[in-house]
Amino acid sequence: MAEYNKITPEILEQLKAAAPGHILTGEDVNEDYSRDEMPIYGQNAPEAVLQARNAEEISAVVKICNENHIPVTTRGAGTGLVGGCVPVYGGIVIETIKMNKILSYDLENFSVTIEPGVLLKELAEDALTKGMMYPPDPGEKLATVGGNVSTNAGGMRAVKYGTTRDYVLAMKVVLPSGEITSFGAKVSKTSSGYSLLNLIIGSEGTLGIVVELTLKLIPAPKHTVSLIVPFADLESAISTVPKVKMANLDPQALEFMEREIILSSERFVGREVFPKSVDGTEVGAYLMITLDGDDEDQIMGRVETAAELLMEAGAIDVMVIDNPQKLRDAWATRSSFLEAIEAETKLLDECDVVVPIKEIARFLTFAKKTGDECGLIIKSFGHAGDGNLHIYQCSNDLPREEFLKRVDTYFEKLYAEAVACGGLVSGEHGIGRGKVKYLAESVGDTNMELMRGIKNVFDPNLILNPGKVCYKS
Ligand SMILES: Cc1cc2nc3c(=O)[nH]c(=O)nc-3n(C[C@H](O)[C@H](O)[C@H](O)COP(=O)(O)OP(=O)(O)OC[C@H]3O[C@@H](n4cnc5c(N)ncnc54)[C@H](O)[C@@H]3O)c2cc1C
Repeated sequence: MAEYNKITPEILEQLKAAAPGHILTGEDVNEDYSRDEMPIYGQNAPEAVLQARNAEEISAVVKICNENHIPVTTRGAGTGLVGGCVPVYGGIVIETIKMNKILSYDLENFSVTIEPGVLLKELAEDALTKGMMYPPDPGEKLATVGGNVSTNAGGMRAVKYGTTRDYVLAMKVVLPSGEITSFGAKVSKTSSGYSLLNLIIGSEGTLGIVVELTLKLIPAPKHTVSLIVPFADLESAISTVPKVKMANLDPQALEFMEREIILSSERFVGREVFPKSVDGTEVGAYLMITLDGDDEDQIMGRVETAAELLMEAGAIDVMVIDNPQKLRDAWATRSSFLEAIEAETKLLDECDVVVPIKEIARFLTFAKKTGDECGLIIKSFGHAGDGNLHIYQCSNDLPREEFLKRVDTYFEKLYAEAVACGGLVSGEHGIGRGKVKYLAESVGDTNMELMRGIKNVFDPNLILNPGKVCYKS
């Protein structure tokens, strides 16, 4: 790992001259800059913050930092769940949230160009006013699109539409030298050498700083219908997933959730939509399914096929959510899982493994059993349609050190099992600081060396987001 310097008064003067009025220091650097949404992975205050307004400012600041070996950590909205934007080695945080302009639409080319600090919510809503959909739909709508691209965020609609990566056509990037370059183009296919664009997507601020994005849009589907499907237990719920996919129902979302997490979340949002028992059968788990399309009759036909198939496969009911308020309440419950767990839990950690679809049920049983053996409360939900599982480890009574020790033991077993069944460490949240060890264990030395080689080419002084992804802190 590289040696880093502190920001001296002389360097600070240079930074202030490069970005007049936009550098924060001292008491102006509030506590938020030292952490993300998962503080268990550590907190550390930066020495300074650049509230960036444009690419040129970022370029000038990064160049100074590179020449002086000062760490640079980029931050979007700080909603990450793996400690990705935490400035582990101090230095400067570059915040993009004020680069929040939607620059232009090019509807004939189905694309939009934006600054990286535009929030997902704003982009999604704005695109809809043009009759277009930006399909990636991660749970946290107040994340920046630059953060989504840097973590290759997934979300609810990935089962049908793919992840953020599938919607990035081109980008402008500031390299650690300060040079501003472009990757990709507004074209729908390419076979033009190594994909530098795809290297930056999901690189978590370790290779370059994304300062502009051109994204693919699609015509917005005219109709959507959501179903809540209760089951007696999680195994029965999960075992229907391949059947739903095989029946070519093409769901936009196919989510699973356990009873416990619905109870927590409904307590949190203060409304009840999900049934807890049906005709005397206690509900143990649910699927939530959304179908979309332009032809309402065709969607209702698919709803009927889905209902028959699900009941035959062991569902105890199929509820069509056609009342707009109920629909909002149901998705509010689904979107509040993390906050609901946080509200009821003193100590919390999380993993977002991704496993082959046919392994989901067996893997979740393993996760629960291992949690019991380690003395941890396990709460899980996730994207059943694509095998991406969010498994939370919780405790309200263990001392912090003991909790961390048990979670470490738990993760060793869990990630080993994920890899053994053909899965990967992270489906959508990234590696950040929290999962560096497990990435190394799962992909092996050769692949880690290749990743470090790529990192060294982009960032020979290792100033960008040190301690993340492939370099340990
Ligand atoms: C309630 C909740 C629900 C969530 N649901 C989902 C979900 O369904 N799916 C999902 O994938 N994630 C989810 N997340 C995680 C989080 O929202 C995503 O990881 C999101 O992409 C982070 O965006 P951000 O702007 O907050 O980035 P930050 O947290 O600020 O940063 C994340 C990483 O990206 C880097 N980065 C940010 N901007 C740039 C840039 N312009 N250039 C280079 N690097 C940059 C940072 O250095 C860091 O490594 C959820 C989080 C919460 C709190």
